[in-house]
Amino acid sequence: MAQKIQPRFLDFTTAHAVAEDFGTPVYVYDQKTLEANAAAVLAFPNAFGLTARYAMKASPNAAILKLFAQAGLHIDASSGHEVHRAMAAGIAAEKISLSAQELPEDLGELLDAGIQLNACSLAQLERFGQLKPGGEVGIRINPGAGSGGNNRTNVGGPSSSFGIWYEWIPQIKELLAKYSLTAVRIHTHIGSGSDPEVWLKVSKMNFEMVRQFPDVVTLNLGGGFKVGRMPDEKSTDLQIVGQPIKEKFEEFAAETGRKIRLEVEPGTFLVANACALLSKVQDVVSTGEAGYDFIKLNTGMTELLRPSIYGAQHPICLLQSEESASSKEYVVVGHCCESGDILTPAPGDPELLATRELPEATIGDYCVIDGSGAYASAMTPKHYNSYPEAAEVMLDTSNAPRLIRRRQTLAEIWANEV
Ligand SMILES: *Cc1c(COP(=O)(O)O)cnc(C)c1O
Repeated sequence: MAQKIQPRFLDFTTAHAVAEDFGTPVYVYDQKTLEANAAAVLAFPNAFGLTARYAMKASPNAAILKLFAQAGLHIDASSGHEVHRAMAAGIAAEKISLSAQELPEDLGELLDAGIQLNACSLAQLERFGQLKPGGEVGIRINPGAGSGGNNRTNVGGPSSSFGIWYEWIPQIKELLAKYSLTAVRIHTHIGSGSDPEVWLKVSKMNFEMVRQFPDVVTLNLGGGFKVGRMPDEKSTDLQIVGQPIKEKFEEFAAETGRKIRLEVEPGTFLVANACALLSKVQDVVSTGEAGYDFIKLNTGMTELLRPSIYGAQHPICLLQSEESASSKEYVVVGHCCESGDILTPAPGDPELLATRELPEATIGDYCVIDGSGAYASAMTPKHYNSYPEAAEVMLDTSNAPRLIRRRQTLAEIWANEV
C-alpha cells in the first residue's frame, strides 16, 4: 500500500469543526504557515537591501494582504483592479507596484497616489511618459529565456508576451529620452514553478540589463519559486537560490560601484501550502471491471482549476472517523458536468486520467486537498453550473477558525442580471 498522505495542518477535529460551522467546500488558510513563509521571504539573501513583495494575484483576500503587510511585505499587483483591492485592504499606495498586461484607465490617478509602475511594453512606457514626463519608472524586460512548469506558466522567451523583448533596448532608451524619464528599476519575472537553476541563470542575465541603464538602483527578480505540493516534490530553498544572487550583486558593485537593491515578489511560495480545500465525498461510482472507481467531491474546478488546466498534482486525503481497512485506486472528480473536472489528472497532462490509492471511500467522508493556496480561490470558474463562491476561513495561531469570506448566496450569482 502506498504511503498514506496526511493533511499538512488541517487535523480531523479542526476539519469537522470548520465544516460544521462554515459548510463545505471551504478554503482553510493557516496563519502560522503564512507567517513562516513571509519570514522566509523577508530573509532572502541580499547585499544592499531587499524589498519583498507579495504577488497578490495568487490569493487576494484582504485578510491575507493585511497579514503579509503586517509582516513587512509590499505588494505586486497585476492589474489596476488589484491595486484598488490592495488599497481598499489598507495597503499604502507607496507599497504597491504594478506590472500588468493591461494598464488601467485611471493609471494617472494611481501614479499620483504613489504607486510604482513597471512598464511591460513600449506602448506602456510611452503612456507613462505622456502622464508623467520627467518621472521615474521601472522597465519589465523579457530576458529571452523563461522557466515555468509548462508552457502556460512560462512567461519568458520568444513565445511569451510579458515584458519588453531584450533586443528593444534602443527603443526603450529613445522613449526615456523623449519624455525625460529615468529608468530606476529593471524587472523580470520569468515564470511560475521555475527550476531553481534556470531562475538563477536568468537572474544573472539581468545584470546585463542593469548595465545598460545607469540610473537603475533596483533589480526586481520577480517570483516563480517552485513549491512542492506533493510529498515527493521539492520546494525552493530561498537561502540556497539567494546566496549566489547576493554574490552577483556584490561582484557588480565591485566592478561598477553601483550598489543595487534587490526586489523579489513571490506569490506561490507565500501561499501555496498555506491552504487546504476542505470538501465532502458526495458520491462513489464505478464503471465496472475494465473501468474505474470514481470519488465525486462536492468541489472541483469550481474551487481548484489547476489540475484541469495544468495537470497539477495536489495531495488528496480522506478524513474518516474510522479509517477503512482496505484501499482502492480511485479517480477523484469534481461536481461539474464537464469531463475535464478531474482532481487526479496524469501529472502535467490534463487530458489523461490517473488514479490515487485512497482508503475505501464512503459518501459523507471529508476530503482535504492540500496545496490549495495559490491560484486556487483566486483563479476559478466558480459560477459554472451555478455553484456559489465558496467560503474562506483562516485558522489563527491557536488553530481557531475565523471566517474571512462568507459563502456566496445563490441569488448573488444572478444579482447583476437585468
Ligand atoms: C505572477 C507573478 C509573480 C508571482 O509568481 P509566482 O510564480 O506565483 O511566485 C511575480 N511577479 C509577477 C510580475 C507576476 O506576474
